[in-house]
This record gives sequence, C-alpha cells and structure tokens, in this order.
Amino acid sequence: LRLVTFEDDSGVRFGVLEEDLVRDVVTEDSDLPAALLDVVRGGEAALERIEAALPESPPLPVSTVSLLAPIPELPGNVIAIGRNYRDHAQEFARSGFDSSGNTDVPSHPVIFTKARSSVTGPGSPVQTSNDPTHTTDYEGEFCVVIGKETRSVPASNVFDHIFGYTIINDVTARELQSRHIQWFVGKSPDTFCPMGPCIVTADEMPDLSAIELRTVVNGETRQAFSLSDMIFDIPTLVATLSEVMTLRPGDLIATGTGLGVGIGFDPPRFLEPGDVVEITVDGIGTLSNPVE
Ligand code: MG
Repeated sequence: LRLVTFEDDSGVRFGVLEEDLVRDVVTEDSDLPAALLDVVRGGEAALERIEAALPESPPLPVSTVSLLAPIPELPGNVIAIGRNYRDHAQEFARSGFDSSGNTDVPSHPVIFTKARSSVTGPGSPVQTSNDPTHTTDYEGEFCVVIGKETRSVPASNVFDHIFGYTIINDVTARELQSRHIQWFVGKSPDTFCPMGPCIVTADEMPDLSAIELRTVVNGETRQAFSLSDMIFDIPTLVATLSEVMTLRPGDLIATGTGLGVGIGFDPPRFLEPGDVVEITVDGIGTLSNPVE
C-alpha cells in the first residue's frame, strides 16, 4: 500500500494513494485508526482492515487534496546517517564544510538527528530565510519507517521491524553545520525536512538492491545513485541503533545521501528562492518542494 496523509475541506486524515486518486479510507470505517502513525503502530492488523475497506472507500482526485508529510507529527526526531556513500563522503571532505576534519570513509556509521519540528510536506516550500548563513543545500535520501518497538535486533531480523519506506530531503544549512561542530542546528531549521509523498509498505519493496534515487534541481539532475552503494546497509544501521536504544513505531531513519549535493560543486551551488527540488525513488514516487 501507498499511504498518505492529506487535507481537504473535511480536515486532515490518511488515505491510500492509487495513481491519481486518494482512497479516503477513514470515512468508511470508524474503527480504523485515524492517523497514519496509528496505522504504523497497528501493523499488519491495521493494514488488513484498510485493505478490506478499500473497495468501499471514496476515491478523491489527488489534485483536489493537499498532501501533507505522511507523519506530520513524528514521535521523535528524525535519525539520519551522514557520509554513508563513498563518493559523497569524499565530496563532503573536499568541500571544507566538514568541521570534524575527517577525510576517511567512516569505520562506523555517522549518526545524527534532525529536529522533528523541521518536517514539512510534499509541495511545501523550503524557507531559506530560516538559514541566516544563506548556505542552504539539498540531500536526497531514502528513509526507513520503523514499524515495531525495536531493541537489540540482529541485522538478520531487521526487515521484520520495518513498516515501510519514504523519501526525505535532508536540507542542510552548511555554514551552521560547520560552525556549530555538532550538526543538529544546521540540520534542523524549520521546513528543512521535506518528507513524502507517501509511505510505501515494506511488502511492496522486497528487494532494495536495485532501487535508485535521483535528485533534480530546476530540471537538472544533480544526484543519481543506487541504494546498493551504501557503506552501511539498512540491517547494519538498524542493528547498530537498536543495540543501545529502543526504536519506536514511526521513528524515521534517513539512510544518507550520495554524490552531487550543492557543496560538491566549485563554487558551491546553494539553493535559492525560486528553485524546485525533486527527489525520485523507484517504487515510492517524487518528493517535490519549491524553495522560498
Ligand atoms: Mg544527509
């Protein structure tokens, strides 16, 4: 299933995306969860009830509703992975914006968070006015949505704990990322975490090895990489985190970006008002956001 959170005159609710239609599931069965996060928490049982309700669920043209971030109010901050693709790790080291001074490929995952308050939806503007240093950059990323309370899961069992996948734009204020040493502030300005357009349940993407991600800015392809090129794969990332902390349903893990961010260019190509960033992942769709 391709699950969305949307808003129209009747309010905010979740639905199932089918090409150009959104199935308005909730109105047909008041026993169903009211929000997409509740669907994640409800797991297989909730998904079965949604599937059963689909034939009776009114189809709304997607053009008549506003898609929001699939989980507008996350249970926690977005967990994100830095320097998880070799050629991006190298371009970041060359850029001069990595205040850690590390130039090697990491020996352990580089893990940070983005404030949950930075999340915004598909089509909503990234507001560069929230970056006082005017060094706003994009990072197209494949994102894991945790489905179960997860603690000490071995890498071999990680996929049993994943609800589905979405796309994140890990928008970054580069100068803040550099000057504050820790990345939290530079990663967390309001609107700097576009998410969506949907969450695809894991059963629809059984093989991630052939999945590609492309980032297009104003029609120009900037990033095109394969998920199979991650330095630390998804089982390793989830196992590493869950060894020390409890992951909860709805927690997001953005798995890192590939070659081709703005600071990979000389001179850097930062985002400016009027730009449009489109991130496409096979099997999920396109996350498109204007820059204001
Ligand atoms: Mg990133």
